[in-house]
Amino acid sequence: MGLRFTILSSGSTGNATVVDNGETKVLLDAGFSGKKLEQLLTERGMSFADLDAVLVTHEHSDHIKGLGAIARKHKLPVYANEKTWEELDRLCGAIPEENRQVLDTGGAVDFGTLKVESFGISHDAAEPVAYNFYSGEEKLSVATDLGYLSGKVKESVEDADVLVLESNHDVGMLRMGSYPWNIKRRILSDIGHLSNEAAGEGLCELVSGKTKRVYLAHLSRNHNLTDLARMTVGNILEENGVFENLPVKLKDTYFDRPTEWDRLEEE
Ligand SMILES: [Zn+2]
Ligand SMILES: [Zn+2]
Repeated sequence: MGLRFTILSSGSTGNATVVDNGETKVLLDAGFSGKKLEQLLTERGMSFADLDAVLVTHEHSDHIKGLGAIARKHKLPVYANEKTWEELDRLCGAIPEENRQVLDTGGAVDFGTLKVESFGISHDAAEPVAYNFYSGEEKLSVATDLGYLSGKVKESVEDADVLVLESNHDVGMLRMGSYPWNIKRRILSDIGHLSNEAAGEGLCELVSGKTKRVYLAHLSRNHNLTDLARMTVGNILEENGVFENLPVKLKDTYFDRPTEWDRLEEE
């Protein structure tokens, strides 16, 4: 069995994804209460007992809300870099020493035949990362919570079969919205979040003949809409001739329900 994944929930209110290669199942972020995560797993035919590890991108609550509780209750090994661990220790309560695993930014870990690699991103957290997952010839890249697409990020996600990329906000909706100016400025900055426009422009470079699908993820509840994100990104790709020349498809993610299991090898 090849690589498959489900985005259990995605958005500014909480994030969690399961990646499974038949042999190993890992949870990427735990941005909901243990109870809610259990419900989301159940919706995709899974339970905590199936999981082998939890990977953490950064310490914002929409990524770690249930982390401490599930790590303790289900004795799950948790992987994060040192600086993120310093924050997790403060925010998540005690996680047993034997389940505290350090994965340096840029490092990789093999869970049997599933290989996980982290890479640094620009975001206002201690040491935020995104992840690549490899199994056999297949590659899945998941990159959210990033202020801009650095050369390093572009290089890291190159040739992924499926890419999950942040398409956080519509710049116009954010500017018109009710957030205080300093928060708006932070979101728009290089250590904030990728806008629909920035995701679209970035994808013109990132999408290759190998890219089967791109999931637009981590949509803002206040400053974006699923249709608007897909249309904005889609129009930019269309204008740049991407759909004409390459087989890529755009996929939605949801804040209130999991995506279908996506098996990379299938169309
Ligand atoms: Zn986030
Ligand atoms: Zn964040």
